[in-house]
Amino acid sequence: AKADGSGCLRFFEPESDSRMRQRRALESDLRRAWAARDFELFFQPIIDMKTRRVSCLEALLRWNHPDRGSVSPETFIPLAEEMGLIVPIGEWVLSEACAAAMTWPENLRVAVNLSPVQLAHIGLAEAITASLARTGLAADRLELEITETVMMKETRATLATLERLKALGLRIAMDDFGAGYSSLRNLQRFPFDKVKIDRAFTAGLGHSRQSAAIVRAVTGMCLSLGMVSTAEGVETEAQLDALDREGCTEAQGYLFSKPVPAKDVAALLDRLACA
Ligand code: C2E
Ligand code: CA
Ligand code: CA
Ligand code: CA
Repeated sequence: AKADGSGCLRFFEPESDSRMRQRRALESDLRRAWAARDFELFFQPIIDMKTRRVSCLEALLRWNHPDRGSVSPETFIPLAEEMGLIVPIGEWVLSEACAAAMTWPENLRVAVNLSPVQLAHIGLAEAITASLARTGLAADRLELEITETVMMKETRATLATLERLKALGLRIAMDDFGAGYSSLRNLQRFPFDKVKIDRAFTAGLGHSRQSAAIVRAVTGMCLSLGMVSTAEGVETEAQLDALDREGCTEAQGYLFSKPVPAKDVAALLDRLACA
């Protein structure tokens, strides 16, 4: 039996034959899918709490598998990381996201998730510069979201990379704040523009005083440090009201919209502008 909950243990346990076979199958499917570019970017709006307008859209990768349907990025991204495929896939994501943003109103930014593997790859800054140059997107319209696992090791190299990306004019967000081994030291040490509060805290708003207290503390800290705070996973009006009270600056979640295909972004923006 595999105690799978913790994620870390998984890799050290022997995999059963059938699991191994499944994994191999998924690996070869993924390789084929990448060769055929069977991927698509969806976009989810992020709302500015003051204006109640869309300020940014987050790009979220989808794999349309012929038999399995839409495979979750939570499943295939770790696999792509292990296979070394995440670097070319990640470059494709960056390039597609920049191209999509060029079709939107100029005041909207695009946020792209970066894998720790990409951040450790020496070609990252060049790939980003190339995407911006090829599409003509202004650097200040691109945001990079990174999780804290990135910062656990190779602090100096990571810091140098982030400083370099900042120098290009990009914004950098810490993703899933509070979900893992969060360290306030990371907020001090790395040049973040934004903190994305993990949806576990948003979920508690309205019935958990602890969640409200944590959200209030994080948003207050962001304000003092000159950073934007974005609440993830906002699903109800009650949560939105609580976020407003606690001083959160941005909100994202199903309450506004699920992630939508690129072709539906224009209609989505219309709907949210009139909301
Ligand atoms: P994430 O960056 O934390 O993205 C937010 C996830 O929460 C997305 O799942 C989104 O669809 C979901 N979500 C948004 N609003 C709500 C809500 O109100 N309620 C609930 N329950 N969920 C909500 P998704 O698209 O399945 O992505 C999962 C994760 O996969 C992402 O988490 C991110 O870590 C990773 N990922 C997605 N696209 C990429 C990519 O292009 N590159 C890399 N490296 N990772 C990606
Ligand atoms: Ca994200
Ligand atoms: Ca997140
Ligand atoms: Ca996440």
